[in-house]
Amino acid sequence: MSAAPTFSRTDPEGRLHDAELTLCASCGCVQYRALDMSGLVWDAGPEPARGCGDRSCSCHTAPRYGERRIPAD
Ligand SMILES: [Zn+2]
Ligand SMILES: [Zn+2]
Repeated sequence: MSAAPTFSRTDPEGRLHDAELTLCASCGCVQYRALDMSGLVWDAGPEPARGCGDRSCSCHTAPRYGERRIPAD
């Protein structure tokens, strides 16, 4: 019984990943992080949430949707 709910997100290549909800370290908006592959992040996107701490944060200006920054391996 895991306490944290798990989400499913699709990467640009159409692969499904288990993801967990997290918060952007810079602005505090919701973000998803893949559990099965490090470095995969789904950002909040161009719409900052109410209470966003930094509307010019890169998660809004240059959102990533399942793109990998660090090569896995
Ligand atoms: Zn952010
Ligand atoms: Zn934000």
